[in-house]
Amino acid sequence: MEKWKCSVCGYVYDPAVGVPKDNIAHGIPFEKLPDDWVCPLCGVSKSDFEKE
Ligand SMILES: [Zn+2]
Repeated sequence: MEKWKCSVCGYVYDPAVGVPKDNIAHGIPFEKLPDDWVCPLCGVSKSDFEKE
């Protein structure tokens, strides 16, 4: 699965890891995250992420 990077802070969403602190389990592709999901570090929306 593809990693997606926040263009603002550089945080990388890795589906193999998920976001444990936000209760996002591993194995969820970026595309399947809720539309209102935001960067766990800086809070921008999914549209500010780009494929790594
Ligand atoms: Zn960010």
